[in-house]
Amino acid sequence: MPGVVIADMKKQNPNCDGGHCTRDAGEVRRLPTGGDSAAILCRSCYEYEIAFRRERNKDLAKDCAFDLPAWESLKVYGED
Ligand SMILES: [Zn+2]
Repeated sequence: MPGVVIADMKKQNPNCDGGHCTRDAGEVRRLPTGGDSAAILCRSCYEYEIAFRRERNKDLAKDCAFDLPAWESLKVYGED
């Protein structure tokens, strides 16, 4: 996340929009967040987001539940 001060122990992938990176480098992929927007996430932030969505989906009606796309189905960001 922009503007967040990263502590020494915290890893942050500079290409990742998330705050749950476990590495400071590596592939990032485009996770659609609705409409034309998307989050660019590394693998660990993707896992975190999917776990979050899965939890939320338990409380949401089926027609407004989050998508849970597979990592393999996401477009690699920065490789066009
Ligand atoms: Zn990340």
